[in-house]
Amino acid sequence: MPTKPTPICGQHNLPKEWRPTSFEYNDDGVSVRVPNVYAWVCPIDGEASYTPETTDELIVTVRELIETAKRAKARRAAFTEYIVAVQ
Ligand SMILES: [Zn+2]
Repeated sequence: MPTKPTPICGQHNLPKEWRPTSFEYNDDGVSVRVPNVYAWVCPIDGEASYTPETTDELIVTVRELIETAKRAKARRAAFTEYIVAVQ
């Protein structure tokens, strides 16, 4: 958990909760979902705010996964969904 003070949702005026979210990204018919990404989440509407460190890592991860998926799409691969995990 970050040591910074708990951020407040400006829209609902409530403290956000530090909890896992599922990050999703769509680009040109390819979608990437990264589960268990911790973020500050509004308890009312569930909007997630990612820390700068998390955002940096998500950008790199999603870019690599999108490239892989687009190559598969270009060669009309039979498999259209992958689940990848690092132990
Ligand atoms: Zn809110």
